[in-house]
Amino acid sequence: MARKRRDDVWQEETPADAKPAEPCWLCGRDLGKTVDRFHPIPKSRGGRDTVPVHPICRETIDANFSASELVRHAQGGIPLTDNETVARFVKWVANKPADFHSATKAGR
Ligand SMILES: [Zn+2]
Repeated sequence: MARKRRDDVWQEETPADAKPAEPCWLCGRDLGKTVDRFHPIPKSRGGRDTVPVHPICRETIDANFSASELVRHAQGGIPLTDNETVARFVKWVANKPADFHSATKAGR
């Protein structure tokens, strides 16, 4: 099974005024108040570019891909939704509010 791997490198602070106009890189929805920056190629593998994602989307990526799998997807041009779990997540999250993640934490 995939090892659980916490990589602090992926959780860089983003300055508050650097609000991206782009949609979420993973699910394509508008971004909410909280925006995470995600390295499609992990920094540990030389990746420099970051893309904006929802915190819930980044967690989904973290949970489903190892660093080397991310590199394989990025270099091969394979969308992460090629992964069935991620594809199902993107469909499921499609009509949730942008800040849905905080709602799950408070609502239980
Ligand atoms: Zn998203």
